Amino acid sequence: MADPVAHEDESLLLDLLNSTPVVDSGQRDLLADDRGSRAWVRARGGVGSAAEVAHLRQVRDRLQAVVGGVEAPEVLAPMLDGVRLRPEIVQGGLSWRLDVADDERSSARALLAWGRVQESMPGRLRACANEECRLFLLDRSKPNRARWCSMKVCGNRLKARRHYERSRHASR
Ligand SMILES: [Zn+2]
Repeated sequence: MADPVAHEDESLLLDLLNSTPVVDSGQRDLLADDRGSRAWVRARGGVGSAAEVAHLRQVRDRLQAVVGGVEAPEVLAPMLDGVRLRPEIVQGGLSWRLDVADDERSSARALLAWGRVQESMPGRLRACANEECRLFLLDRSKPNRARWCSMKVCGNRLKARRHYERSRHASR
């Protein structure tokens, strides 16, 4: 049976969770301005309407709270109203078709991807361990010990800070 959630939906989910990065110690929202957000959505398979962006922002805020452990997954329930998966025969096999209003398709894809990640990779979608960072990571590695969204950015920053603190203590 074909999987109803395409692999690119996982990227959409992660990109959506990571659409409020901290830049120069202020939080930015990549879905805030009209033109930028529509392009963002179109680049990820959406239609790019204002209603779609509004829906995505709502779903994103709740997903961030759920993945960050601030809210229970029940807050996502109202976001699933009107989302249906319909089985159909395509090329001699059964596959699932996402039946939802166009404006809500992208957010529904992200929600279904979240569900699949929870089921197939429990505990692997999490917030970056750097408290000043607002990004999330999906750890697909075998040891499942990744703590930072990026070793380059957050990993090294924390290491450098620890090193600085150690050397400061040592010089006292
Ligand atoms: Zn980070």
